[in-house]
Amino acid sequence: MAEKTFYLETFGCQMNVHDSEKVAGTLAARGYRQVHSTEEARLVLYNTCSIRDKAEQKVFSRLANFKKQRGDKIFGVLGCVAQHQGEEIFAQAPHVSLVCGSASYNQLPDLMDRVEAGESRVTGLSLDTDETFDTPLVERDNPHRAYITIIEGCDKHCTYCVVPFTRGPERSRASAGILEEARRLAAAGYTEIQLLGQTVNSYRDPSPAGLRFAQLLDAVGRVAGIRRVRFTTSHPRDFTADIIEAIDGNPALCNQVHLPVQSGSTRLLDRMERNYTREEYLGRIRTIKASPRKIAISTDVIVGFPGETREDFEQTLSLLDEVEYDSIFSFKYSPRAGTPAAEYADAVPEEEQSWRLSILQEKQRRIQVRRHEQLIGLEEEVLVEGRREKSGQWIGRTSQNRVLNFADPGSLAAGENLLGAFCRVRVTGSGPNSLVGELLAKEPARATHGFRILQ
Ligand code: SAM
Ligand code: SF4
Repeated sequence: MAEKTFYLETFGCQMNVHDSEKVAGTLAARGYRQVHSTEEARLVLYNTCSIRDKAEQKVFSRLANFKKQRGDKIFGVLGCVAQHQGEEIFAQAPHVSLVCGSASYNQLPDLMDRVEAGESRVTGLSLDTDETFDTPLVERDNPHRAYITIIEGCDKHCTYCVVPFTRGPERSRASAGILEEARRLAAAGYTEIQLLGQTVNSYRDPSPAGLRFAQLLDAVGRVAGIRRVRFTTSHPRDFTADIIEAIDGNPALCNQVHLPVQSGSTRLLDRMERNYTREEYLGRIRTIKASPRKIAISTDVIVGFPGETREDFEQTLSLLDEVEYDSIFSFKYSPRAGTPAAEYADAVPEEEQSWRLSILQEKQRRIQVRRHEQLIGLEEEVLVEGRREKSGQWIGRTSQNRVLNFADPGSLAAGENLLGAFCRVRVTGSGPNSLVGELLAKEPARATHGFRILQ
């Protein structure tokens, strides 16, 4: 075999990004070297997302580029599209040799043995597992912030969502292993940890320690050296008050909660089988807002779910006014094969979906402009995550997860690297998506293992 090189492109959520870090670690341990273009690679892997049709189509368009000129490359499809489409992928893209869903990543070394031996249709597609992809072999992408998956899969079965079919049943990792990983990360110089799960707060410690999610969160925030802890994604049904109590009592836990609502209409929430009403959701929001910590709240919204009337949509708009979210992710409903909603007869026309999405996004843009203006003059602590080459500005992120850009001519002139440093910055200006400020004080960056410049 020619030199063992691999190219790995990731689509979709942070869990996919972190799965890719583990896949990269597993391959590196087998003697593979990661490269950053398909031309240089012997093994070309796509870690895919199937949450919406557009995301799913991306991988097929990538694969189509190689149909005629595959050379001696080996192609693999990993993640949600692999699980969702299974062996169908071989029919659509006959040059693919490996199809492996995320619930089977534990088998990756065996599957790779077979691919390397020349087998052309190797699959890992079982969902029947109680295992997590727990590996010490992780090639982390960011030198300061590290992901830890604490719960995999999902048992909620919202009627629009493909995740339970692509990621399998809910399974949590034992708390001792999670805390051990957090301590190792702190010792390696990481200062921020993000706990991940499709429904991260549905975490149930399978070990005798039996930690609740709020207790685990608190314990991770108490690991020496860890300055920031975030967690995503929380399901409103399992969002208990003790999570906010943990944030209130632990300065390392960030002022940020992502709590996807999907719709402001109880009738639609019921159709989506979200298991909460608008009022119950707003009750959770009141608990979060009652915290002395000024916790930023973000959400996900789907517009144009089957049967969504203008009146239902108006209720989503009024929810935005009521909550005044710090940011939202909004999507047009996309039917997914195998989900109950894909069979619903009362689809909302595409044009109407687009109109609703633009109205929603414009409303949120105005909310963000107004809220950001209120921050001018305040002092924030940021973790420096990158630098804009053109403007020479440093890119910082606040505890509330806002981007706050600032200039520091002194550090630029001295060739000083602020990446990974915690700085105090005064907010001097704002836009809908970010803030700008002036540097007040800086702590030296901690020793880390290299960095990337973000554009
Ligand atoms: N587990 C999280 C939760 O319960 O909210 C979200 C996981 S999903 C990867 C991220 C977001 O994608 C969802 O919150 C939802 O807004 C959106 N989404 C999921 N299925 C969708 C679909 N069929 N069409 C459009 N958006 C969808
Ligand atoms: Fe999908 Fe619902 Fe599970 Fe979130 S909770 S991953 S939206 S099924």
